[in-house]
Amino acid sequence: MSENCLFCKIAKGEIPSHKVYEDDLVFAFKDINPQAPVHVVIIPKKHVASLGDVSEQDKEVLGHVQFVAAKLAKTFPELKNGYRLISNCGSDGGQTVHHLHYHLLGGRVFGWPPG
Ligand code: 5GP
Ligand code: ZN
Repeated sequence: MSENCLFCKIAKGEIPSHKVYEDDLVFAFKDINPQAPVHVVIIPKKHVASLGDVSEQDKEVLGHVQFVAAKLAKTFPELKNGYRLISNCGSDGGQTVHHLHYHLLGGRVFGWPPG
């Protein structure tokens, strides 16, 4: 828990969210400002600011987040033709909340390269 971190508070239930999944290591909830028909945010419960701040001891949870994303994706019919999993890192990456998170997006066709 990091003081005044929005996503730490969401993971603890101190700020309400539409939860879609939780286990010992991760918490997933619907994005408040969805960019696609399905837009889920997946976070490790442990506070890590971004991918730029992970350490050796975070390897397990990083793998677990990706596995949870793949499992969750199978539960949304809108994602049957594919989806995108993104982690924005730092200012150039467009990160606005400084608690490591992954966006699971789908239900529409995305362009490449990203904007
Ligand atoms: P970032 O821009 O850091 O990659 O993503 C942060 C995401 O968190 C944004 O998509 C934003 O809509 C979402 N978000 C910000 N505040 C809240 C909130 O209070 N509740 C929920 N559910 N999502 C939020
Ligand atoms: Zn946090």
